[in-house]
Amino acid sequence: MKLIGEINMKEKEKKIENEPLLSSWELVDWDLDFETFEWFLHLCEVNNRHLAGDQWVIWPDWPSDMPEEVEIEHRQSWLNLLQFIHESDQISVCQNLVRVNGNHGSVFFLEFLGVTIGWGNISLSENPPDSVVKILLEQYDNHPSCKIVPGHLQSLCLEPNSSEIVSTSLFSVLMMLIHEVNVWDIATDYHWAVCKWCGDSDFGSGRKTPHNVMHRIVCYSCRNDAPLTN
Ligand SMILES: [Zn+2]
Repeated sequence: MKLIGEINMKEKEKKIENEPLLSSWELVDWDLDFETFEWFLHLCEVNNRHLAGDQWVIWPDWPSDMPEEVEIEHRQSWLNLLQFIHESDQISVCQNLVRVNGNHGSVFFLEFLGVTIGWGNISLSENPPDSVVKILLEQYDNHPSCKIVPGHLQSLCLEPNSSEIVSTSLFSVLMMLIHEVNVWDIATDYHWAVCKWCGDSDFGSGRKTPHNVMHRIVCYSCRNDAPLTN
């Protein structure tokens, strides 16, 4: 009797390793909105919870499309992304809003729009966190642009790479937001140019260093070629 009991136990363990628990549906939070990213994440988590930290491999058997239909060959990539989000202390999801806490104290939000569309623009505050400013000032020889994000760069468009599927691109963007210095680097990469001929001023792309010397750039207003930049 003891031997049979052990064999049954081993068979049972094997079954648990390979298949979701029959009670997966009992674990589901039915109050969530079925059309949201939060539901997508939750449903995958519930179906893979029995794997206890191993790679998620089970695609939920859910009759309707989740936010949109995911192609079979892309499912593992989505499971990998969702497992990463679930296990990250720095990422949380509420409905379609993904919140990322950067390593240096920034809080970023991105809105998930669908498995083929991707996500919306990422809003940035006017000033990077002090610890990021310090890093950028060292990197760019105290260039004044490091302290401020101009208005036109406060909505950052980090679009999915067209050659990649959205799950892979989203993983890259989440990693970038967690390691946030590069995000602020992009957003503060400009110079303020004042034309010495007509006095017009504007933002130009790219930091001009050294920032306190003149750079020859064509002025958009008067077409002269020596505006002052800082
Ligand atoms: Zn000018």
